[in-house]
Amino acid sequence: MKTNRIFLSIFSCVVLLVQGCALTSHPLGKSALGKASSSAEMERLIDQPGPIQLETIDSAHWSAPLAGLVNLDSPTAVQAELKDRDEPIQIYAHLLQHPQRGNYLVDSGVSRKLVDDPAKHGLNWLVVKAMHIERLQIMKSTAEIVQGMDGKLSGVFFTHLHLDHISGMPDISNEVPLYIGASESTATNLMNMFVRGASDQLLKDKQPLQEWHFQPDPQNKFEGIVDVFEDGSVFAISVPGHTPGSTALLIRTTHGPVLLTGDTCHTRWGWEHTVEPGDFTEDQPRNLKNLKSLKELVAGHPQIEVRLGHQH
Ligand SMILES: [Zn+2]
Repeated sequence: MKTNRIFLSIFSCVVLLVQGCALTSHPLGKSALGKASSSAEMERLIDQPGPIQLETIDSAHWSAPLAGLVNLDSPTAVQAELKDRDEPIQIYAHLLQHPQRGNYLVDSGVSRKLVDDPAKHGLNWLVVKAMHIERLQIMKSTAEIVQGMDGKLSGVFFTHLHLDHISGMPDISNEVPLYIGASESTATNLMNMFVRGASDQLLKDKQPLQEWHFQPDPQNKFEGIVDVFEDGSVFAISVPGHTPGSTALLIRTTHGPVLLTGDTCHTRWGWEHTVEPGDFTEDQPRNLKNLKSLKELVAGHPQIEVRLGHQH
């Protein structure tokens, strides 16, 4: 019996080491919002002003190695002689107000509770050290963002589930619906072993993660597009690569179209030179392909204002 248990433990460890594990064991369901759309439908509407009010909030200032943010081995970066350095970045929360559907956040900003007591929120010493939590300087915490809203928070759309995008969860109430890209929480990866405890703890007692209903884009420009409110005001765009379920959002605001790239592109340099992120990205070729698709979308609709993952 004891031998069996030991064998099972060793077997589980070997499986984990070979396959890695999912990012979180948090419950998962299909999205109650949105219907599959197409790039043709999105592009037909992009240039018309929409009903959404959008505010991008600098929740925290931070810094990260440039080698994580930009692929320094890409020919363009090599030619530009970019070297690794500490790069100043921001962590954003985007507040989206739909006139009928209410307030939604895109990503969650940073909770002061997390910075004050990382261990309590599941961040072990290794994660704290790797993330350089001590460099996080909160400008506006998630609690302050939520308190400042006109009405309640109706949901959070995550561009992906890396810790710097779920770091506001301690300030998000347990009733708020949460939305993610397909396979974001279930795809396995070796690195997930280090952050799974933190992801699980930050999502503990929260609503199940709801996956968007992405279908193949009939025009084949993107891996999938969802019309979030079924009125053409907000489109979720499947752009895997940085993570398996990375999602960009095209938002038709009262001031014109805005593209939130998420971490398909972290930096201004990366966007301007079409270079994908570095070590922080799981699948660089796929990330680059989807970065190019986003850039083509903007080239076809130059009035789109682009807001990047971590830099203005
Ligand atoms: Zn990020």
